[in-house]
Amino acid sequence: MKSPRGLPRGDLFYALWVVGSKAAENGCRKQPADQCLYRLLECVDEELAQRVRAGGCRHCAEGVLHQAHYARKPRGGPEEWTKRQSFCCDRDGCRRRHTPPSVRFLGRKVHVGFLVVLKTALHQGLKPDRLAQLRRVVPEIDRRTVARWRQWWAEHFLATAFWKVARGRFIPPLSSEQVPLGWCERFPVDTPDGLVKLLRWLSPITTVSTVAEVVM
Ligand SMILES: [Zn+2]
Repeated sequence: MKSPRGLPRGDLFYALWVVGSKAAENGCRKQPADQCLYRLLECVDEELAQRVRAGGCRHCAEGVLHQAHYARKPRGGPEEWTKRQSFCCDRDGCRRRHTPPSVRFLGRKVHVGFLVVLKTALHQGLKPDRLAQLRRVVPEIDRRTVARWRQWWAEHFLATAFWKVARGRFIPPLSSEQVPLGWCERFPVDTPDGLVKLLRWLSPITTVSTVAEVVM
C-alpha cells in the first residue's frame, strides 16, 4: 500500500486504520464534529496508553506497570479531561515512570495539543474556512500566546530528533517555515479524522524522553 502524495510514509497507515476502526466502533461520526474529535482523541490516547502498559517496564525485565496518572486540566478541552495517563514500574529499586505518547496533551503545555497546532497554523496563514467543521473547537486565543507557540515550534520543535527523521518522509519536502502550517494542509485537518491522524503522527514528541531531546 502506498502513502497518499505529500504525506509521511510508514506508520501513518497504522494510524489511518486505527482512527477509522475506532470511529466506527463508537459511532462518533453521527455526533457533531467537536464531540467526534474529542471521542477519537480519547480512544487513541487509551490505545497508546494500553500499548505502553502491555509492554512492561523498559528499564528492568521483571517490572509490572501500575497506574500513576497525572492530574491535568488542559485549556480548550472538554471538562472530563482531568488526567494524563502515566504508569510506574512496581519493582523496588526501579520504580521508573512511563508516560505514553498522547494526542491530547502536548507535553506540559497549558492548552490541548490540537490548539497549539491549529492556532499556530492559522497565524501562519491557514485559511479559516479549512476549519469550518471544527470551528467550535478553536476558540479565540490571546495573540501573545500564539506568538509564543510559533516561537516554540521554530526554536524547540525543529531541533527535535523526531523532526530530523520525520521531515525526510514528506514528499515533496516541507520547509522549516511550513511547520506546522504545512502539516495542516497535507493531512488535511478539515475533518476530525484528519486532525487525529496528524496528532497521532506527532504524538512521539509528547513524551518525557523527547522533552530531554528538545533541551539539547
Ligand atoms: Zn522497572
